[in-house]
Amino acid sequence: MTAPRALVTGAAGQDGSYLTERLLAEGYAVHAIVRATDRGAMRETGQMSIHDVDLTDHARVCDVVLDVAPHEVYNLGGISSVAQSWSDPVGTAEVSGVAVVSLLQACLDLQNREGRPVRLLQASSAEIFGEPTDEPQTEATPVRPVSPYGAAKAFAHHAVHVFRGHGLEASTAILYNHESPRRPTTFVTRKITSTVASIAATGTGELRLGNLDARRDWGWAPDYVDAMVLAARHGRPDDYVIATGQAHSVRDFVSTAFAHVGIDDWQQHVVVDPELFRPADPTVLVGDPSHARSTLGWAPTHDFGSLVRAMVDHDLALLGAS
Ligand code: GDP
Repeated sequence: MTAPRALVTGAAGQDGSYLTERLLAEGYAVHAIVRATDRGAMRETGQMSIHDVDLTDHARVCDVVLDVAPHEVYNLGGISSVAQSWSDPVGTAEVSGVAVVSLLQACLDLQNREGRPVRLLQASSAEIFGEPTDEPQTEATPVRPVSPYGAAKAFAHHAVHVFRGHGLEASTAILYNHESPRRPTTFVTRKITSTVASIAATGTGELRLGNLDARRDWGWAPDYVDAMVLAARHGRPDDYVIATGQAHSVRDFVSTAFAHVGIDDWQQHVVVDPELFRPADPTVLVGDPSHARSTLGWAPTHDFGSLVRAMVDHDLALLGAS
């Protein structure tokens, strides 16, 4: 029997790395669409086939889909921060919006050619909700983005619905912030855990942060990858909010991380730097994952405390201090 085939965009990122490792472990033949410039960021690829293709090169993306003939397609590609989307709104719309339509079209063509379902999972984002009035948000919350990133993701989200209406087995996972030891230190979680580990290991150093009162619904990235796989394979395409349902502040994150290394008077190590405050910090987004729980049987394996501790432990191990 030939192995099932999966095609993954954005394979060089945090979620892409967890997803491709998982698919390979399951015996899938994994094909990754990766920008040539991101190749260096890829982890050990094992058996994976790499296609150096820019997602905005529609003809080549279509060729890869039709050549590989995947059973499952995971679209994780695109830019990953709201801040970046303000510096390049057009590029954001192209790669996180329009490119998704060409991928959907190619998958529908493949499905029609093969006469079997092509299961597509779109990594959607809580940013499609913008500044919602209801909390927690559900799949029924109005899509009203407030950033170029949110708008591109919203367009892609609607496009999935359009192609679903034409018979494509396409689902969305509406992802809230999700973290792991593979987060770059540009995100506050990893910045905190790497600095706390270093302070614990050396007994010195400072953690310089912006708004300690900012709150996020932080989950564990491998759990969110599990949700995407469950949604893709469910057999009936749908939308799923993937979140923990709990928001915590940056201050909670800091105190939990320091407590884990035995430092209770964490204030003496933290400097609040006004330069690091954002001009506008968005409304707290908190998701209600009830639909994923009841339909997919999905539940997060890490709560906030175990997420923080796992990230600190990883950073301690990197320093040889665990
Ligand atoms: P985001 O939700 O994708 O913007 O993820 P981030 O991890 O970059 O930011 C999460 C929150 O932490 C935001 O509300 C920031 O204002 C806040 N924050 C406070 N201090 C810092 C910092 O030093 N770096 C970053 N990246 N965020 C910080």
